[in-house]
Amino acid sequence: MTQKMLVSRGGEEADLVIRGARVFDPREGLDDARDLVVRGGEIAEVRDPGAEAPEGAEVVEAEGLLALPAFVDPHVHLRVPGQEYKEDLETGTRAAAAGGYCAVIAMANTTPPIDSASVLGSVRDQAERVASIPVGFVANVTRGMAGEELTEMAELRDEGAIAFSDDGLPIRSARVLRRALQYQQLAGGVIALHEEDPDLSGGGVMHEGEVSAVLGMEGVPAVSESTMIARDCALALYEDARIHVQHLSARASVEAIRSAKAAGVQVTCEASPHHLVLTDEEVRSLDARFKMNPPLRTEDDRQALIEGLRDGTIDCVATDHAPHASEEKEVPFEQAAMGVTGLETAFAVLHTELVVPGVLDLGTLVEKMTCGGEPFGIEAPRLGAGERANVVLIDPAAEWMVGEDGYESRSHNSCFAGREVTGRVQMTVADGRVAFRQRSFAMGVA
Ligand SMILES: [Zn+2]
Ligand SMILES: [Zn+2]
Repeated sequence: MTQKMLVSRGGEEADLVIRGARVFDPREGLDDARDLVVRGGEIAEVRDPGAEAPEGAEVVEAEGLLALPAFVDPHVHLRVPGQEYKEDLETGTRAAAAGGYCAVIAMANTTPPIDSASVLGSVRDQAERVASIPVGFVANVTRGMAGEELTEMAELRDEGAIAFSDDGLPIRSARVLRRALQYQQLAGGVIALHEEDPDLSGGGVMHEGEVSAVLGMEGVPAVSESTMIARDCALALYEDARIHVQHLSARASVEAIRSAKAAGVQVTCEASPHHLVLTDEEVRSLDARFKMNPPLRTEDDRQALIEGLRDGTIDCVATDHAPHASEEKEVPFEQAAMGVTGLETAFAVLHTELVVPGVLDLGTLVEKMTCGGEPFGIEAPRLGAGERANVVLIDPAAEWMVGEDGYESRSHNSCFAGREVTGRVQMTVADGRVAFRQRSFAMGVA
């Protein structure tokens, strides 16, 4: 039902034989060298390697490569409408395809925000013309993101809103969120929440702790996030409603979600690669590439997020891809815009920092990067026969430097720029179409 809420420009359906890759899909119980046969955009067969390719199919020699179900990102900012100088639907979906994604969910804090059926209709129309992978659009919970009056949630759902969120801002008023949760019962669609108590966050620009004290910068305490999560989980339980908590950053937040889940709250949540890999120590450089909201926190918080991924408290990985122009970032730390790009680096960074050193197993990473659509009604892609082809081919041994060959995104504010990483996306098939291939990646036709 929600699959139709995803829009893209479509295109020619792929006929491919991906030969001899290590086909790895924990949900299908697959981990072996196989040929993946894609016919008319569908996975026709997953078979023993070596058989002849059907005539006309493109043969992709993939020995030594990893074939995974492609990724789904439940949290990106594509900046349309109004801030196309940062990103647009074409560049944003190209960046996503380059990162191995077959679907993304776009937030609604645009200019103007997506708070009416007409704005939503126009971005969906645009995506139908230019988006190289399917995009689901979230609509706002409140008009103008002002946190006061609710949007026409039922009408927005009819127009194709995949969910509701005022991301970028928290919903400050418990009364307003409570009413939104009541309307959700009629309209459907999860409510995705950027959790932060504005009174506790104040004018903070980084995590409140030792490093902020040394730097003399105003901090955002971890309790700003965790207390709002606890409040909103209590409201969701009381109203028997569903919420999705965005970008967890702190140990106290993981603990709040863990106890909410144990109490039967219908809550899911996500964590971002930057919070899983970096800490507030990076801010000592005063480089605004390390400025985002929520901020990078301590090593103890980072460890709690990893533990949350392992034990299932954290449901999925979300990049919170937030492109900004260089003039918005190349200013003193306190004045810089908050947010970092992430689509093109998510797999490589998490593979390098968590899987290669044995902190997280590959199966868990693949599960957490593919199931991000589930809270939004989108099933995780699978590599089984009869499934729509959503496949990413990765060279797990390829070493590369982030940013060295530029980016597909219009913006370059990656907090991983200059890092050496291992594991590179070579090709992405999204919704049955080839959406990305690495320039150097060879191919042939049978
Ligand atoms: Zn946010
Ligand atoms: Zn966001």
